Amino acid sequence: MREGKRHSIRPPILGRVARSRRAVDFGRGIRLSRAGEFQCRHMVSITEEVSRDEGNRRIIVQKFGGTSVATAEGRNRVASKVAQAKKEGFWPVVVVSAMGRRPDPYATDTLLDMVRSAGVEVSAREQDLLISCGEVISTVMVVQALKAAGHDAIALTGPQAGIVTDDHFGEARIIGIGPERILTALRQGQVPVVAGFQGCTISGDVTTLGRGGSDTTASALAVALKAELVEIYTDVDGVMSADPRVSGGAKILESMTYEEICELANNGAKVVHPRAVEIVRQAGIPMRVKNTFSDHPGTLIASGKPSRVITGVTHMAGLARVEVDISRAKDQGEARVQVFKVISEEGINIDFINMTPTTTLFTVRADLADKAELALERAGFSARVARGCAKVSVIGAGMQYVPGIVARVVDALYRRGIDIMQTVDSEITISCLVREEDAQEAVRALFDEFGLSNAG
Ligand code: ASP
Ligand code: MG
Repeated sequence: MREGKRHSIRPPILGRVARSRRAVDFGRGIRLSRAGEFQCRHMVSITEEVSRDEGNRRIIVQKFGGTSVATAEGRNRVASKVAQAKKEGFWPVVVVSAMGRRPDPYATDTLLDMVRSAGVEVSAREQDLLISCGEVISTVMVVQALKAAGHDAIALTGPQAGIVTDDHFGEARIIGIGPERILTALRQGQVPVVAGFQGCTISGDVTTLGRGGSDTTASALAVALKAELVEIYTDVDGVMSADPRVSGGAKILESMTYEEICELANNGAKVVHPRAVEIVRQAGIPMRVKNTFSDHPGTLIASGKPSRVITGVTHMAGLARVEVDISRAKDQGEARVQVFKVISEEGINIDFINMTPTTTLFTVRADLADKAELALERAGFSARVARGCAKVSVIGAGMQYVPGIVARVVDALYRRGIDIMQTVDSEITISCLVREEDAQEAVRALFDEFGLSNAG
């Protein structure tokens, strides 16, 4: 691509297939290469331009969550974090969430409540247009705080920042980024402040990326801009080895792997959106979770193998176990297929799947248990449902290929008299299904067993 050529979003004529060896498939034929090319049929590559002009510039993406931008004090802290990044020689690109939490006036949930109160069903398109305003308001308020602190800055909506998505309103996927407007701002010495959680379709309709989607915006921009680092600012000092309300000795982790934080998030510890982690993981860009309100160094998320076996322990309540008796079916195999079909047709996600010749077991979210039970009954199955279950998980990239971890988990829970109803494991996670009233004690037992108060 030539210098000075405009790279705008156009109808599908300028496409080029990603050439990078480490291209990442974003689905629907759109690929994001390791080198930072966001490409789809509708877009031109941005890589060459970024690398030629900005080769010796280090870009950092700093994302600030709702509590960070909710108050004037918070926004002043944002300005000081931006100033710090500049002092370290970075070009900061800021991404913001909507201000505060329900019932704050511009929080996403407040806007959702407001439109739903009209009593007529709101279309997904109109709902997205409304809730995208929360982040837009934040951009202007943060720009004002930056200007007050002496930094030139420019507010950009997701569409203005060049974020193009598919048309799945409410859960849209980013299919391309044309960041020339951001690059222009950077070259002019401005701090671009981008509204998180949003983009627009090729035809210009505003979309949102799903709850917690501002993290995704930050990661996607980091890849498109070939940023050196993504900082996710929140109101805690970093990622902890356990929930401090349950395990008093829980510590901030100095570092962890991309896989570990994804597993933590998927098993009940919501810190960073897993999709955002996945995007930077594939591009090999490190991420740091930090506190807007302190100077704590936070938690670094990168690749590598930790020396400890277990990094963290999580719990997730609100599960129900469904046990379907298939012992009297003429064809057990066929019955089992039917059971899973019935549940999937209801659109219900399952976990803790276990099959024996006579039963089929799995868990569902407790609020979906009635629906699952009814559907199974209608299909002629008798199901026993145990409500009030919780999932307790130990997570650690260091447990791979280390024998004896399950033995320690089972022993630690047994010694505290906790009944394990079922288990499930993946390469870096071992989860136990326990009764909800045992969950916190189970977390403490595992926390102590693996010495997590010394986590670092
Ligand atoms: N404001 C949006 C939400 O509450 C997006 C975000 O904060 O990441 O889900
Ligand atoms: Mg969030």
